[in-house]
Amino acid sequence: MTREQILLDLQQEYRHRQEMNLRKYEARVDEVSAKLPALGQLMAQRHALVMGTIRQGLLKAGRDQNAQQSLPSLMADMNRQIKEQLVSAGYPEDYLQPIYTCPVCKDEGYVFDPSRRMCDCLNRELNRRLLEEAGLAGDTQTFENYDPEVFSDKDEVGGTTQRQMAEFIRKTCQNFADTFPVTQWQNLLLMGQSGLGKTYMLRCIAHRTAERGFQPMYTSAYHLLELARKGYMENSSAPLAPLMEAPLLLIDDLGTEPLMQNITVTQLFNLLNERQLRGLHTVISTNLSMSELKDRYTERISSRLMDASCWRRLSFIGGDVRTRMKRS
Ligand SMILES: [Zn+2]
Repeated sequence: MTREQILLDLQQEYRHRQEMNLRKYEARVDEVSAKLPALGQLMAQRHALVMGTIRQGLLKAGRDQNAQQSLPSLMADMNRQIKEQLVSAGYPEDYLQPIYTCPVCKDEGYVFDPSRRMCDCLNRELNRRLLEEAGLAGDTQTFENYDPEVFSDKDEVGGTTQRQMAEFIRKTCQNFADTFPVTQWQNLLLMGQSGLGKTYMLRCIAHRTAERGFQPMYTSAYHLLELARKGYMENSSAPLAPLMEAPLLLIDDLGTEPLMQNITVTQLFNLLNERQLRGLHTVISTNLSMSELKDRYTERISSRLMDASCWRRLSFIGGDVRTRMKRS
């Protein structure tokens, strides 16, 4: 489902919610009116007042009797009477107030302050569904849960500890996710051996962008190849189309998928090239080095990934974090 489809579904649910709450309110009015006829009459009067019919009569009478009362004070007076009668009959005083699941937007999903924007309730639910759609619901791999302590602060590589390097990468990735779609670099390439936190970073980026209301598409290189192969067999661009069009595509573990020369290289090149031309953002993680990327995917692809004007390369260093965590 696209973001637009998710939003349309939600707007429909909000309309349904308004209807259900209105029915619930009307049922309460009927219930109280049956039990307390005087209160029922008062409710009917207030309704008529809101509709303007009583006011006309009162104004006419007021002119004659010089006893005009303003509409707000009349309303306040009626509301006070309604509350008193409710309480003395054992009901909560707000029992006959309109019912809203979200009082802020009155279940419209949008508020005006000063221009029209999504209410927090709708925004939260939309983002939750975007996460779900991206397969990230309940995922704990987030920037909030990122723990620099899992990286070693001892082993130095060229004067930098693993923790310092990891922290630099975390900041760069977080900045990318926080500023998306107006990022400093169009694309990120996360390099390094397994167990250094590349997948974690990818999921953090996906999580944060989804939280911000965008729709990231997260895929493993293996799944990407499956789609590419399907498209090749069916001679159709449909299987890869969602990946081609996603505003943010995250490809995990490039290089671990089986290699099918004709399919992988051609389709991967087309995908990266097309996305580049459209100005769409791509984040890739890979265990391969630059020369291994070149050997596997040819110069055409590796030179693209080496283009520093569009790709920010981030290299993870040090030993496997998972074995370190197990040891401790
Ligand atoms: Zn709301």
